[in-house]
Amino acid sequence: MKLYFFNTLTREKQEFIPINPEEIRIYSCGPTVYYYAHIGNLRAYLFMDNLRRVLQYNGYKLKHVMNITDVGHLVSDADEGEDKMIKAAKRENKDPFQIAEFYMNAFLKDIQELNIQKPEIIARATEHIDVMEEYVKKIIENGYTYQSEDTIYFDTSKLDKYGVLSNRNIEEQKAGARVEFDKNKKNISDFALWIKAPENHIMKWDTFFGKCYPGWHLECSAMGYKYLGEQFDIHTGGIDHIPIHHENEIAQSKGFSGKIPARYWMHVNFLTVDGGKMSKSLNNLYTLSDLKERGYDALVYRMFNFGSSYRNKINFTWEAMNSAKTALARLKEGYKKHSEGTEEVSEEIINSYEQKFHEAINDDLNMPVAMSVVWEVIKNPIKSKEFAKLLLKFDTILGLEIDKEMKMEVIPKEVEELVEQRKVARQNKDWNLSDTLRDKIKELGYNVKDSKDGMEIEKI
Ligand code: AMP
Ligand code: ZN
Repeated sequence: MKLYFFNTLTREKQEFIPINPEEIRIYSCGPTVYYYAHIGNLRAYLFMDNLRRVLQYNGYKLKHVMNITDVGHLVSDADEGEDKMIKAAKRENKDPFQIAEFYMNAFLKDIQELNIQKPEIIARATEHIDVMEEYVKKIIENGYTYQSEDTIYFDTSKLDKYGVLSNRNIEEQKAGARVEFDKNKKNISDFALWIKAPENHIMKWDTFFGKCYPGWHLECSAMGYKYLGEQFDIHTGGIDHIPIHHENEIAQSKGFSGKIPARYWMHVNFLTVDGGKMSKSLNNLYTLSDLKERGYDALVYRMFNFGSSYRNKINFTWEAMNSAKTALARLKEGYKKHSEGTEEVSEEIINSYEQKFHEAINDDLNMPVAMSVVWEVIKNPIKSKEFAKLLLKFDTILGLEIDKEMKMEVIPKEVEELVEQRKVARQNKDWNLSDTLRDKIKELGYNVKDSKDGMEIEKI
């Protein structure tokens, strides 16, 4: 069956034609690990997971890379503001490497709980500085840069066109710029590739240009190239990446190899909360733990996201979460009834449902339509094991574990706080404190198990 994706590059829905059908190569922009991911960030990775599963449903094998930005990334995408990692380090009185380690693990735990498949390759920026250095050197060699005393810039005027994704030109950008223009830049859209670190900057590496750190955009281009080559199939990210980060990735790639790195660019729209932006000051910036504290399993949030196409905004409300919770319970109940059913259904009926579901997911991951097919099967008055089997097949896309009991266990806040304290104690290698905290957690009725991915908590 044909597969269609909306491609931001061409601004249209296009049939997906792989470069090599034996292996689909994908790059996803990953998190900057300076704080817990909020549920808006997590929507972006649920979309990434949805894409993976749809490709697999169509029989494809994947080679998928996601970066972890664990080296500083400025507060604005356009090289301004404070470094997010340094800001967090000051806030928590840790060094930026500890910050990155802690929040990367928290992120990996979140995506695991959401049943998001981990990409085949998770690439940490700090482990690829040498790759980035080589990449920058080639861009310099190819004549696409200029430098100030402390920064190597990409010269966007050397490109045939800058702004192929958002279709803007340099003049339009100038007109729209609200921020002070960096005096060393020749063009408003130029950006930093390689930056000399000030004396007090902790994250820095010895390089051809002195003690430096890389620009944020560079890591994705360099790591994408290392693992996926000069050109791969799909690049994903949030819509906020379109105007700067992805334009700059394309610019870098053109400067490096002359090519646009991916053929299909897919972007997920934003999650709004109560119809507006999420923000700390409005007290509506939620993490997965906040949802769990209020009694919603991570998979309820997963279910909630299927209510809208990834290309549309989705509005988060507690009411909508309640509906998703009920819907997930009904889905599991409906599956159970079919699995215990003894009636027969024809292969023709099964195939027609499967066909409709498959068409929906292949139509640019149209999950609302796919879900309507799932409900048709659930509500079918004929109760049959054949339907249960079909629902399990659909669940390879949904990832809702429809054949398992609802896990609604909510960990009390007191226990979570002790677990957090214990993580810090272990980072500080304070094993006595760690053991004392373990005992306290036990008194409250929970066991902690240490694993390579972090800690797991279970009710005794
Ligand atoms: P960051 O860690 O800030 O680089 O963001 C990680 C991902 O979350 C990026 O792909 C962003 O586009 C995405 N993102 C940030 N805020 C939202 C939101 N409110 N809704 C959906 N995605 C978001
Ligand atoms: Zn990126």
